[in-house]
Amino acid sequence: MSKRDYYEVLEVNRTATEQELKSAYRRLAIRFHPDKNPGDASAEEKFKEAAEAYGVLADANQRQRYDRFGHAGVSSGAGQSWGAPGFGGIEDILGDLFGFGDVFGAGRAGANRSAAQRGADLRYDLEITLEEAYSGITAQLRIPRLETCETCKGNGAAAGTHPENCNNCGGTGQVRYQQGFFSVARTCQACRGAGRVVKNPCADCGGAGRIEREKQMEVRIPAGVETGSRLRVQGEGESGTQGGPSGDLYVVIHLAEHERFERQGSNLYASLPITFAQAALGSDVFVGTIEGEEKIKVPHGTQTGTVFRIKGKGMPVLGGRGRGDLFVSVSVVTPTSLTREQRKLLEQLAVVENKDLEDKGLVDKVRDIFG
Ligand SMILES: [Zn+2]
Ligand SMILES: [Zn+2]
Repeated sequence: MSKRDYYEVLEVNRTATEQELKSAYRRLAIRFHPDKNPGDASAEEKFKEAAEAYGVLADANQRQRYDRFGHAGVSSGAGQSWGAPGFGGIEDILGDLFGFGDVFGAGRAGANRSAAQRGADLRYDLEITLEEAYSGITAQLRIPRLETCETCKGNGAAAGTHPENCNNCGGTGQVRYQQGFFSVARTCQACRGAGRVVKNPCADCGGAGRIEREKQMEVRIPAGVETGSRLRVQGEGESGTQGGPSGDLYVVIHLAEHERFERQGSNLYASLPITFAQAALGSDVFVGTIEGEEKIKVPHGTQTGTVFRIKGKGMPVLGGRGRGDLFVSVSVVTPTSLTREQRKLLEQLAVVENKDLEDKGLVDKVRDIFG
């Protein structure tokens, strides 16, 4: 499962104003709110997804980082993860409408860690060369991410102490009450939805339970990957909270441009300059492939634009067998400077060619047209 683009989630375009984001979020939140869709897991998923997207895009800083770096830009900086925000009561969303005031601020600040939450997925963009994609490589990655604090094992409490049950909500993280037609659940303000309170925060993580660290790891990039290929490294995203599972890491491949080859799928394309004599007389010509050289027979009378196909000298097929082909497009190069001997030979050739044309009566015709 990959994370969807936040703009896509909110069904707005990338230039949406704050107000457009807000109304888009409110619309989705009302549609998918768990209070209105009891027991519907996919609605809850959509609700959380929208809350997460809005949480990031509503914050100008976060939005800027997201625009530049994608999910990776907002899931690891700032010590704040939007990986899995929970939700407040429906009144949080209707708040503005009913004049309850803007509660997004409170909601975003981390309402709701009432249960174990899965850590956020991370994205890492990796640029590799065509040669590396050809053979596959082991890439060394350095990934900043939130990891469970070892000192407190993630519960945020100082050594020798434990988080205590929140008195205000009895440990559920939510306070329910009747509001007109709705039975609403508001995130407990005392524990911010966690259900537990830390009286003496852990010195190392300040009570957050997670610490930002740079993780070094090796990832095997298989042969045949191309731009846009995504490799999922399970469990190497951010740590979960309250003992939740870690998210996944996605390595997104970008291929650097190559000076000689162009790639389309598993085929490679290159051009091959040859001389007029080679083209006219025919010749064996060597063509560079990714691994070395390959000989092709250029037959006499070959024209510019003729394409030769060298089987099996393209890219490996990702996760499959065999290789694509190499297509070589020939171009006949006109010399820009000549040695004395070359000039003499070409002049002799010109005389012969001219005579040939005169014999066929072509020269007069050409003179008629251009003369
Ligand atoms: Zn700690
Ligand atoms: Zn509470």
